[in-house]
Amino acid sequence: MELFITVTLLFAVVFAVLWWRALLGNWKMKREHAAQDMEELSYHERTRQRAEMLHRLVEGIEDGLFIISSRLTVLFVNRGAMKFFPPISTPVGRTLLECVRDHRIVEMVDGSVQSGQRQKQEFLVSSRGEGSGVEDRIFSVEAVPLNGDAPGGMEGGVLVILRDETEKHTLERIRKDFVANASHELRTPLSIINGYLENLVEGDISEPDETKRAFGIMRKHGDRLAQIVEDLLVISRMESGEPEAVRVEEFDFKACAQDVIHRLTPVITTKEAKVEVVLVDNCSPYIHGDRYYWDQILFNLVSNALKENLARGLQVTILLKQEGDISEIQVRDNGVGIPHADLPFVFKRFYRVARHHSKDIKGTGLGLSIVKRAVEAHHGTITVHSRPGIETLFTIRVPRAARG
Ligand code: ADP
Repeated sequence: MELFITVTLLFAVVFAVLWWRALLGNWKMKREHAAQDMEELSYHERTRQRAEMLHRLVEGIEDGLFIISSRLTVLFVNRGAMKFFPPISTPVGRTLLECVRDHRIVEMVDGSVQSGQRQKQEFLVSSRGEGSGVEDRIFSVEAVPLNGDAPGGMEGGVLVILRDETEKHTLERIRKDFVANASHELRTPLSIINGYLENLVEGDISEPDETKRAFGIMRKHGDRLAQIVEDLLVISRMESGEPEAVRVEEFDFKACAQDVIHRLTPVITTKEAKVEVVLVDNCSPYIHGDRYYWDQILFNLVSNALKENLARGLQVTILLKQEGDISEIQVRDNGVGIPHADLPFVFKRFYRVARHHSKDIKGTGLGLSIVKRAVEAHHGTITVHSRPGIETLFTIRVPRAARG
């Protein structure tokens, strides 16, 4: 009997141990599966997040990106690329030519596919402009062959990167134009002065009247040289960002405008022009600012209007409007105007409108950039609107409260 009890107990213990182990094993397995599931889930989540991040990155890039198959079919295109070309629905799956509509670009990309070599070139392309218009832009196009481990379907294809270099080229052209313009502007008065000096030294000019006239001309051109150098100094002083450059205080704007008109009276009279100052609703003539700078601003704007317009009877209005916290100043003329295409550039340093009017009009292309910098030094903004042949309007808005 005792033996029976002992054996039964032994079986019970063995059974309990085995059952416990099985239970533990099952529990461990479940835990492992759960951990695996979690890992898989977070792997998918990580992959999804990475794909989302890449998508945003690619779509956020200003440059255009295409992935082109070895048969020159579009496999991928970002938003940046499509804004350059005529709109096309579902570009993926179409040929590159259908999207870019330029044989030269397609030939270059094909060259890269065939040779497996990276290629880069610049193209002048008629591209989609603002709104629905078409404008000429300069694109750099780079084709980068995709190597052997590119994802399926992309092997042998290329990544095409499009960059709009128009702005860079425009700035470069402006810089070159300036060097040519400034040298010309400085050389002309210098050679006139030198010419007269030589005549005086050689005794070719000896009569008192002739001598007086020669000195008069030399003085005029000397003044012009001084003006160009002054413009260059003013602009470099403003660009240096020196805080003491602007001294803001309340001053009589109307008196400042009238001083400018007074200084320009000889030109105004010769051109039979009319320049007037208007205070809207009889507002206060006082504004906050550095009078020295405002003198430059008004002088440049009014003298530009007079200089650019050869026809007689020009009407120029300098208008002041006080609106809440803002003083608004307008300078309007009814002359030749500025062509639409030139408007975005007129405030750029050294930019001069390609002569839609006489070649005799002198300038360095610095006047409006001085004006813009002076306005910005007053925490203000300046805009320009023009309807060629009808009017040109410069609008300046500056805070009424003093800000140094
Ligand atoms: P510039 O020294 O040539 O006058 P600005 O920077 O003052 O240089 O002006 C840039 C260009 O903008 C000028 O070359 C001129 O063609 C154009 N412009 C400026 N103001 C006027 C205006 N009121 N009417 C017509 N064209 C203007």
